[in-house]
Amino acid sequence: AKERGGHQSVFFDDAMGAAVARRFTIEQELRRALAADELRLYLQPQADAQGHWRAAEALVRWQHPVRGLVPPAEFVPVAEGCDLIEPLGHWVLQAACAHLGQLARAGTRLPIAVNVSPRQFHRPHFVQEVLDALRTHGAAAADLVLEVTEGVVVEDIDAVIERMLALTREGVRFSIDDFGTGYSSLSYLKRLPIQEIKIDRSFVRDAPHDPDDAALVEAIIAVADRLRLRVVAEGVETAEQAAFFGRWPHVLQQGYLHGRPDAAEAVLARWRAAQAG
Ligand code: C2E
Ligand code: CA
Ligand code: CA
Ligand code: CA
Repeated sequence: AKERGGHQSVFFDDAMGAAVARRFTIEQELRRALAADELRLYLQPQADAQGHWRAAEALVRWQHPVRGLVPPAEFVPVAEGCDLIEPLGHWVLQAACAHLGQLARAGTRLPIAVNVSPRQFHRPHFVQEVLDALRTHGAAAADLVLEVTEGVVVEDIDAVIERMLALTREGVRFSIDDFGTGYSSLSYLKRLPIQEIKIDRSFVRDAPHDPDDAALVEAIIAVADRLRLRVVAEGVETAEQAAFFGRWPHVLQQGYLHGRPDAAEAVLARWRAAQAG
């Protein structure tokens, strides 16, 4: 069949086999990495319009012995497709809360936002897992933000709301990530007990030039203000974008302009030095 088969179908089979094999390899490697403690917590600051840090987002990296620093796009989706997102998510939550506890003991605070995948959010013991992580490390619930996408809303929105309320009652805050890229965003804003929305980078990028993006950004901020939701603009890279969002001094900016993601220890050392100085 290989000699006479059409090139296309042979290629398709090979490509599929390669993708499956790659996924399998990453899965195996990630299982080993979790045991070998190869994950690293990176932080990226969220600044106000004056450039003062108000919070930071936790972004996971994989320090691979051969491949170097692997970005999450290469392994988080694989982890999400299997049971590995649970230990990975647990590790990130523990690491973030450990830093929050250390900051509190050093007499300072910088809230940390942690990404929570739908699969992690829906684990039976998720609420307890979060509360345990806070308690274990002496972290304040008010310093923890959980970033979720609209993907957490599966068939039963009431169960999702109930679960979120169990945490917001304790002081944990929820943020809607990648806002504007999914569906039914406005109805979720009405129903979900959230405190923050993050305007997706795709709107932020073109807002200074494109009147349509500018209009959408203005509308999102107007709605958020009326609902008393905090707003974070994602992916602010240029002075022009920063100036555009500077029209709203209360809107936080996150992006390479204010700081690239860096090892949590380095970012927090800078933060503590700035606080002391
Ligand atoms: P996200 O949650 O939307 O995170 C923002 C991404 O934008 C990060 O990519 C960040 O490095 C990048 N970014 C920040 N500022 C800029 C900028 O000015 N320009 C550009 N072009 N990009 C910017 P990163 O760290 O590669 O993470 C990618 C995605 O991986 C995240 O998107 C998130 O969905 C996922 N992820 C990262 N860490 C975790 C985690 O601990 N748990 C889960 N479940 N997902 C995570
Ligand atoms: Ca995020
Ligand atoms: Ca995002
Ligand atoms: Ca994203």
